[in-house]
Amino acid sequence: MNIFLDSIGCRLNQSEIEKYASQFHEQGHQLVPRLEDADIVVLNTCSVTSAASADSRQRIHKWLRKPGLRIVATGCLPPEEVSILQGLPGKLTWVPNIEKDKLVRIVLERPQNLPLAGRSTVPGIRSRTRAFIKAQDGCNNHCTFCVTRLARGSSRSLPADTILADVSSALGSGVREIVLTGVHLGAWGADFPQTQDLRDLIRQLLSISGDYRLRLSSIEPWGIPDDFLTLWIKDERLCQHFHLPMQSGSAATLKRMARNNDPQAFRQLVEKIHTTLPNASITTDVIVGFPGETESEFAETCAFISEMRFNGGHVFHYSERPGTAAVRLPDKVDEQEKKIRSQIIRDLLMHSAENHAEKKIGSIQQVLWEAGRLNPEGARIHGGHTKENDRVITQSSKDIRNQVHWVKLNKWDGTSFWGEVTAQEMPE
Ligand code: SF4
Repeated sequence: MNIFLDSIGCRLNQSEIEKYASQFHEQGHQLVPRLEDADIVVLNTCSVTSAASADSRQRIHKWLRKPGLRIVATGCLPPEEVSILQGLPGKLTWVPNIEKDKLVRIVLERPQNLPLAGRSTVPGIRSRTRAFIKAQDGCNNHCTFCVTRLARGSSRSLPADTILADVSSALGSGVREIVLTGVHLGAWGADFPQTQDLRDLIRQLLSISGDYRLRLSSIEPWGIPDDFLTLWIKDERLCQHFHLPMQSGSAATLKRMARNNDPQAFRQLVEKIHTTLPNASITTDVIVGFPGETESEFAETCAFISEMRFNGGHVFHYSERPGTAAVRLPDKVDEQEKKIRSQIIRDLLMHSAENHAEKKIGSIQQVLWEAGRLNPEGARIHGGHTKENDRVITQSSKDIRNQVHWVKLNKWDGTSFWGEVTAQEMPE
């Protein structure tokens, strides 16, 4: 069968789609980069914001109108929205989140399958450069805005052996950077009969030899063991980039969000990272316009962001998600005001990112290059990332995809550095 895979939302969804890609491939099916060539389309949906939900629904809706196309969807769309889609004409198979790890088996066991198309190479879905590997799912916290917890259930860790096998398989296929993903990665191991934590998993992963990078996609800013960062000092394959979702810099807002931390604890963590790893970069997520966010609470968030000197971040303006506790909170913030606040936070994050960038101009960094493209003048342009997750672009006379070079950073264009390769490829 020809299968087109698609994913909306977080890196965890992306890691699951990559796993489906290798499972379909192992079963002899062909992954196609264009929907037009597919017999089956698989979508991992998202509902973290109302826009992500709408995007998920619209894609399924559009595909259901294509005669003969079988659609398989899973992910975080709420049951009411799934029921509406299931009532529409067309072939839709919904795989609930709780069964999503068995999705490939479910698809292949259903009778309407078409004959195998023969073994092929896996195109597109897993770039050879970076693999997103799922280590954990679900969450035991109760953040009042969070629909992910409702959609994915309580925290479950994948066994270390499974993760090690996935990482080894990705490295064996030529990937040079592993990104560990999870809904609440810091909770890894807490649900095992003999409790372990993320340090144990990282140590085991680093026992795999090779010159690869290991990156954490995101980690909640609490429950991080005291000596966690010493792993980064001991092994330079660990990327010095920490994505710490802050959500708000106001203690009162964080309390209404039922977050497990407050600005002071967040501040201490950031200070510790900067002291232990002076070159590390720290990025964040911020929600603006949460119910009851007064002007003074918003001002606290602005001041906190300036103080934290983040290397960048994502801003979400709060949207009500059905079933979450925040729906019942009073004092909703006006939509126009949310837009204004979002822009203010974006500007602040951009400003601190620029300050960091200025300091890096002229420095030499290791860059792992991703796929290149030809520009209108016919020159080959490659993008890549440093270990601190800075995006770098260069012009090259040859294809340097999946190679690591020492690169001099010459200028910053607001989102990326432009760099010049200064030394030969580093060994794999
Ligand atoms: S920590 Fe909070 S925001 Fe993160 S997944 Fe759990 S409930 Fe959601």
